[in-house]
Amino acid sequence: MVKNLSRKNRNCWLEPEACSRDEIFSFCSDYIDFLSECKTERECVEYIQELALENGFVPLDTLIKKGRKPVKGDRVLVNHRDKVMILFVIGEEGIEKGINLVGSHIDTPRMDLKPSPLYEEQGMALFKTHYYGGIKKYQWTAIPLALHGIVIKSNGEKLEIVVGEDPGDTVFTITDLLPHLAKEQMEKKASEVIPGEGLNFVVGTIPREYNEDGKSIKGVKDAVLELLKDRYGMEEEDFISAELTAVPAGRATDVGLDRSLVGGYGQDDRVCAYVSFRSIMDIREPKKTCAAVFVDKEEVGSMGNTGMQSAFFENALAELIALTGGNCGDLQLGRALSNSCALSADVAAAVDPNYPDTHDKENAPRLGNGICIEKYTGHRGKSGGSDANAEYIARIRQVFNGSNIIWQSGELGKVDLGGGGTIAQFLANYGMDVLDCGIPVLNMHSPFELASKADIYMAYKAYTAFYRYME
Ligand SMILES: [Zn+2]
Repeated sequence: MVKNLSRKNRNCWLEPEACSRDEIFSFCSDYIDFLSECKTERECVEYIQELALENGFVPLDTLIKKGRKPVKGDRVLVNHRDKVMILFVIGEEGIEKGINLVGSHIDTPRMDLKPSPLYEEQGMALFKTHYYGGIKKYQWTAIPLALHGIVIKSNGEKLEIVVGEDPGDTVFTITDLLPHLAKEQMEKKASEVIPGEGLNFVVGTIPREYNEDGKSIKGVKDAVLELLKDRYGMEEEDFISAELTAVPAGRATDVGLDRSLVGGYGQDDRVCAYVSFRSIMDIREPKKTCAAVFVDKEEVGSMGNTGMQSAFFENALAELIALTGGNCGDLQLGRALSNSCALSADVAAAVDPNYPDTHDKENAPRLGNGICIEKYTGHRGKSGGSDANAEYIARIRQVFNGSNIIWQSGELGKVDLGGGGTIAQFLANYGMDVLDCGIPVLNMHSPFELASKADIYMAYKAYTAFYRYME
């Protein structure tokens, strides 16, 4: 515990007593491995589940089956549809007194294959895509893409597919026009330069030749279908029950001569997800029950049965209350939810030196200045954001200052320029206190996002302090 330091202009790199460089670099080396391996929400859930099980977490279903009552220090895991994960560490106090929750999202913008993706044009076979989340479409052309996802065959068999990640593996790419012929294209608005229907990527060019009714037919699409059949036992119709997506290929990496940044795909919001995962893994026998929630569908409004608007979280909490305390009526669940404290752990938009005018400088998050608290997000006039109560922010400040956390306060950008939301508003619907609190990034929603290693490590310290000391 240290004395309350002034927050303004603290730079993590200049305060080794708050975060040593060795600790920063070692933590972020593990993070880079995670970011390189986990490029879909399913892959994130699998990663978290495997490590959680190795570290003493027990599936909630197992406890229910055995009728075993979780006690202080017990670690409980909930996997919802392989796309959402909740980790609980049971505290000393009853759950109806409220829990300390850190919620992040593990879905990211990407190119989802359409239900009937495969077609042939100009002697080439391509996959059609429908992009997911808010992107600048032009950033996704002419870069190497990997294919990730699953296919459920009509007999129920599940195929897990990853192509394009191993060294020497083949990759895919969305083609773009050469500058020489792009006069008309270059005159268009950036949002129209690449049409949504133009985000098709090449999967093959070698035709298959065969005879049908005495006629010779050459088809690249047929050749690709044959490859899919040979390699995966897949039929064309299987694409209907598949979730296949194209994401930037290759590993995340250090950026800068001083290696101070992490560059890679999907840091919004896997950086906060990874950090909160590492934090909850460190928590043993807390006073209040702690939870880390990793959700899907944030980038499309938190809809669907794996988005934060679904009832999976309250259902899981009700099960837990029923197991620990007995009779879970609406009243106990309502008390637990409304007495809880949450951090919506989502990335903040750091001010960009190439575009410094997008932020009000007094309220601009900066790389290296620590974890960022945002009182509210939302669009012009705070619409669609959750606006945290002053009393709650004061309590968080106390916890952070008491644990020598370097933090900054920010806004999403200038009032009239745009905006966005997080899962904070859906957590707030439960009546609990919620504050947006995450890591600043640059290049948000691009194929190569940037975050400061110091902020990443500081967020780990911040979420851990929140779990330990928030009362
Ligand atoms: Zn996000």
